Amino acid sequence: MNTVQSPSPTAMSGASTSSSSSSLSHNPSLVASNKIVADRLTYEKSIYTRVIPTGLTRPSPEISVVIPVYNEEENVDLLYSKLVSALDQLGRAWEAILVDDGSSDQSYNKLKEIAAGDTRIKVLRFVRNFGQTAALAAGIDHALGDVIIPMDADLQNDPADVKKLLEKLDEGYDVVSGWRKERKDELFLRLIPSWTANKIISSISGVRLHDYGCSLKAYRKEVIKDVRLYGEMHRFVPIYATWLGARVAEIPVNHYARQFGQSKYGISRTFKVVLDLITVKFMAKYFTKPIYVFGTAGLASWILSFLIFGWMVVLKYYYQTSFIETPLPVLVAVFFLMGMQLLLMGLQAEIMMRTYHESQGKRIYKVKSTLNVDGELS
Ligand code: UDP
Ligand code: MG
Repeated sequence: MNTVQSPSPTAMSGASTSSSSSSLSHNPSLVASNKIVADRLTYEKSIYTRVIPTGLTRPSPEISVVIPVYNEEENVDLLYSKLVSALDQLGRAWEAILVDDGSSDQSYNKLKEIAAGDTRIKVLRFVRNFGQTAALAAGIDHALGDVIIPMDADLQNDPADVKKLLEKLDEGYDVVSGWRKERKDELFLRLIPSWTANKIISSISGVRLHDYGCSLKAYRKEVIKDVRLYGEMHRFVPIYATWLGARVAEIPVNHYARQFGQSKYGISRTFKVVLDLITVKFMAKYFTKPIYVFGTAGLASWILSFLIFGWMVVLKYYYQTSFIETPLPVLVAVFFLMGMQLLLMGLQAEIMMRTYHESQGKRIYKVKSTLNVDGELS
């Protein structure tokens, strides 16, 4: 409430700069009154922005359900009624953030109608289709709850499972991931590729889950708010979280066949997922030391080049085979240049990594908590 009595000096100075650049600057009395109005507006704005998030008017939600919606017009009404009946029984304040990812059907109009009648339903609308991961990221950025629960809009997930996820979270976990134990999708194009991808992800990441692709998960806010999502990476959040020290659990959840609308994905997603996995693994293990990866490959290439060179010389002097009779000189040159390129790329990556960390004040570690330590580093 201090702010109410004394507006911050930055707010005042910001206002005076804007008024001095006004086109009315030739009339001193108008300039003065203009300045008062501008100061007043900035002052009120500063109070407004401070009061609303503390939730004097509305209880701040404990649970935020985040739902990407892309051309799901037949699903949204039913989704809304299922959400309400499942979430109202929890006895906790909730909000649902539905992100319209550039739908070209009536999805947005339906969402608008729902939001008009229920302020717990919040809608974000993208200017175009950015993809499920971007929609999730936007929803998470706007979520106010302590627990964030992503879910699909197509009713393949069951909002009634939120209760089970929360109960598991309350046992002391930071992430609870859904496992579509009896998954209702096509066998050859979906189940088999997904089964294979899950096995690969599990063995490469060392985090043992059965089903990374299930959208229905529950995260504590602290775990997910800092994670930046790219590509198909939302499925790897439990892996990131585990690497950062979070406790992750998995529980079976319901899964239904899609009744309305179409799936937005085909087999190509499996390849994207594998490529994303390589990126995630690289980022996690070598992000602060990229030269270890590029440099190792570069040195290996050089060693190969020297070995081939040695063999070439042996062939010439002991077996009287001239250099030009074999492809070896070409191989020597190729591996030598490749090694050089890799080493230089490694150095470049090191520079980029340092720029990334230093320009944004990012640290190479993450502290969980401190005792008797003053000040807070982000
Ligand atoms: N989705 C989205 N943007 C896209 C593709 C999908 O927001 O570009 C949403 C879609 O509306 C659904 C969820 O992401 O709520 C999962 O999509 P889908 O059901 O097509 O995936 P599947 O269940 O077939 O893996
Ligand atoms: Mg689906």
